[in-house]
Amino acid sequence: MNYFNIFYVIASILFILGIKNLSHPKTARRGNFIAAMGMLIAIIVTLLAYGQLDYKLIIIGIVIGSIIGTFFALKVEMTQMPQMVAIFNGFGGSASALVAAAEFLKSGDISTFTISTIIISIFVGTLTFSGSFIAFGKLQGFVSGQPIIFPAQQLINAVLAIVLLVLGYLIILSPIEMNYFYGLIIISAVLGITLTIPIGGADMPVVISLLNSYSGIAAAATGFVLMNNALIISGALVGASGLILTNIMCKGMNRSLANVIFGAVGIEQETTDSDSNQKQVLIKSYSTEEAAMIFDAAEKVIVVPGYGLAVAQAQHAVREVAEFLESKGKEVLYAIHPVAGRMPGHMNVLLAEANISYDQLKDLDEINPDFEDCDVALVLGANDVVNPAARHDTSSPIYGMPILDVDKSRTVIINKRTMNTGFAGIQNELFGFDNSIMVFGDAKDMLQQLLKDLKEL
Ligand code: NDP
Repeated sequence: MNYFNIFYVIASILFILGIKNLSHPKTARRGNFIAAMGMLIAIIVTLLAYGQLDYKLIIIGIVIGSIIGTFFALKVEMTQMPQMVAIFNGFGGSASALVAAAEFLKSGDISTFTISTIIISIFVGTLTFSGSFIAFGKLQGFVSGQPIIFPAQQLINAVLAIVLLVLGYLIILSPIEMNYFYGLIIISAVLGITLTIPIGGADMPVVISLLNSYSGIAAAATGFVLMNNALIISGALVGASGLILTNIMCKGMNRSLANVIFGAVGIEQETTDSDSNQKQVLIKSYSTEEAAMIFDAAEKVIVVPGYGLAVAQAQHAVREVAEFLESKGKEVLYAIHPVAGRMPGHMNVLLAEANISYDQLKDLDEINPDFEDCDVALVLGANDVVNPAARHDTSSPIYGMPILDVDKSRTVIINKRTMNTGFAGIQNELFGFDNSIMVFGDAKDMLQQLLKDLKEL
């Protein structure tokens, strides 16, 4: 068995190197490949370690799984990636729970330690499964994106948690009583649902990251059930990295994790005419031709990409405009907000796809001082991340969120299709500022037209 453990250590080293490489867009593809190789080694070694197996069934499973995985990897849009990750987490959690349950059902005489790890794996894995599918449903529109709240919600969750603790204790006392075991599975699944439905669709990416961490904990617990070192290490890595990512997202929105989970943020309020959301914003709407003249006079341009750029798939169009401006001697930079788009790193991945140099991508802290001497800030399908209300309006749901200071530029050109709100569901006062100009339209169409107009000047 030690011989196999050496390969498990190699696989674990590859997982760690993979994560290290994933931390920068330049090396991310390589990181993904290295981690996948680690997983391949872990799978092969595990199959060999168990010896007498029905390889026919395993191969059928691998082929079907690979076909489904490849199909979705190719088909799913970048903007749907959070949903995809939610499904991955759900299956990861349920796989851990199923393996732990199989061990429980097949073993005759199990130690208290093993039973305890089985209970943890089934509890966390099943909760991750049901919670992830609710998260998926909310983002895909199958379940209301609104926080679904009901009376005594927290109390019910607390009671369910206590019942689970009692059931766990009873299973340890009498493992042959199957009703406790079934009760553990059902109540864990119910808790996954009741914990997730009160969270608004806007906060789902954070929840998905948290559930990702849970799926790692479930895998690590199953690793202890099977005493499989590769599973323990990879589960711990997923658990820790999911938590770190959750923390980064909360910081990016200036919210605590407790506020995300229990705050029911995003619930539709009865609005009155005096609400800030209803305030009429007086805007100036320009054509691309007029905007082209402003660019022509500019020396420094900062592009601010947001969710709308991803929806429009305008990453190549923006690179073409930027290259044209650069060929005219202008400086072009890109300002990346940590929660622009629908997942951390969304904008980096999008712009990298269009071969935009990493050196031009600047993080929030780095770029904010630059807006003061910037001629044009070009906001493309971004809304919440440039809303100045985050700085001063204590009643705003995004109050306290660090934002990109585009309003400090000489001119702000904002492109979106309509006056509709962004993810947080609030109107943006920036659109009415004296130095703001709206250029309406789909980001890709607008940029292509802008390029034509720039070339004709
Ligand atoms: P927003 O969701 O605030 O705004 C996107 C804007 O894009 C909309 O106002 C929309 O306006 C516009 N848009 C949509 N489609 C197009 C199109 N085809 N062409 C041009 N414009 C378009 O996006 P931001 O990136 O500014 O902010 C991200 C939000 O997501 C924040 O509230 C953040 O907290 C939240 N969030 C992000 C997470 C992350 O990890 N990135 C995680 C959790 C939440 P219109 O419909 O009028 O075109």
